[in-house]
Amino acid sequence: MIDAHIHLDDKRFDKDRHYLIKQALDAGIKQFITPAVTSSGFAKLKELSNHYPSIIPAYGLHPYFINQHKKNDIKYLDMWLSANKSCAVGECGLDYFLKDLDKDIQQFYFDAQIELAKKHHLPLILHARGAVDAVFCALKNANYYNAMIHSYNGSIEQTRQLIDKGVKFSFGGAIYNPNAHKLHKLVKYCPLDSIMFETDAPDQNSYPDFKLRNEPINLIKVINYYSQLTNHNLEQVKSQSSITCLHFFK
Ligand SMILES: [Zn+2]
Repeated sequence: MIDAHIHLDDKRFDKDRHYLIKQALDAGIKQFITPAVTSSGFAKLKELSNHYPSIIPAYGLHPYFINQHKKNDIKYLDMWLSANKSCAVGECGLDYFLKDLDKDIQQFYFDAQIELAKKHHLPLILHARGAVDAVFCALKNANYYNAMIHSYNGSIEQTRQLIDKGVKFSFGGAIYNPNAHKLHKLVKYCPLDSIMFETDAPDQNSYPDFKLRNEPINLIKVINYYSQLTNHNLEQVKSQSSITCLHFFK
């Protein structure tokens, strides 16, 4: 299995990262797609991925941290992508859920990173909280659809159009909340070969442990729940989602 979106470089893992990675590896989770969120974190992520070959790094500027980004970070990211292995550009995108994040500034960093993904022939790892339409619109404007939306939650109509363009989705712990009826409908709608699975750890722990730190091992719960929900064979789910991940992130 592969965790398609996890922040293993987060400082909340500094004390027990080694143990958590071993625990996940022993359980069959072999790789962790780990996107940086600010330029100040690039060096730490690179160092961790050198130390742990299971950590697959991506570099980007997350919309949540626009107050920490500087316009020069785009140039820095461009140089960093030329000099370092990255499986994608991201985490980037738009967040319209938090009202104090300026939409124009977010758009500036997002559009610039779509151009960098094009330039470096890399896929995009997208954050689209409350902003699936706006994210889709930006991809349309750039005519670039080599992208996955993590922790995806869009409408069926949006999803149909995104699938048409080849955009992929990943689902996390939100799906094993028994009350997430709308999300369950969406998950069932998506063809298995369009989706991956993630934890987004240490964030987004789910039912019933919302307040606890999320951990890499919880990917098992996500995948098990998905297979029950959709009546797909568990082994088929594991292998197909890994294949999707390997193809997408090369
Ligand atoms: Zn994330």
